[in-house]
Amino acid sequence: MSIKESVRQLLAELPEDVKLVAAAKTRTPVEIAEAVEAGIGIVGENYVQEAENAYQEIGKKVEWHFIGHLQKNKVRKAVAFFDMIETVDSVELAAEIDKRCGQIGKIMPVLIEINSGREPQKAGVYPEKAESLIREIAGMKNVRVQGLMTMGPATTQAEELRACFRETKELFDRIKEAALHNVEMRYLSMGMTDSYKVALEEGANMVRIGSGIFGPRD
Ligand SMILES: *Cc1c(COP(=O)(O)O)cnc(C)c1O
Repeated sequence: MSIKESVRQLLAELPEDVKLVAAAKTRTPVEIAEAVEAGIGIVGENYVQEAENAYQEIGKKVEWHFIGHLQKNKVRKAVAFFDMIETVDSVELAAEIDKRCGQIGKIMPVLIEINSGREPQKAGVYPEKAESLIREIAGMKNVRVQGLMTMGPATTQAEELRACFRETKELFDRIKEAALHNVEMRYLSMGMTDSYKVALEEGANMVRIGSGIFGPRD
């Protein structure tokens, strides 16, 4: 299937209140532009430099979400053009985003990345630490927490991810109910090509799809 056909099929299939993020790592600006022409409204990027190149070609007609591991020394560049950072998992990273956004007069929507598989070497905050992290970030002037994001363990079995997605949704609901000042729990970003159907069943309202749009990565 072509990129265009894949996008159209996904957009037709997804419920209307679910946001589709095209996960574009390793794809060329031409490939990304094709997805945008077919109706993609959000591009997800893992690398700041790669994203900058694509942004220069495609510009502001889509939203740009950062979905990779953000190093502190890349924050200044990232905040200049990203519309959301989905992978905040520490006070230090949030503080750097806050500082750099303050310098350019921008308020950055962020999601908190949850290490729902509790894998020590992986990015994300453990579920039980999420609320206290959010309380700390909520005090920052130039950062707005808008929800949670999770990957789950790298397994080919989508069913094995279901428990991780479910726990993340429960956490999302709990934090939403706590109605923390300056925190707006709107987005639950979970699910990729092999797992988005399970993620939707478990309450995701944002899915990040790469190979299901662009084909296999080599
Ligand atoms: C690559 C990537 C995706 C998409 O993965 P696919 O299996 O290609 O759909 C989603 N989220 C993140 C954070 C990624 O790095």
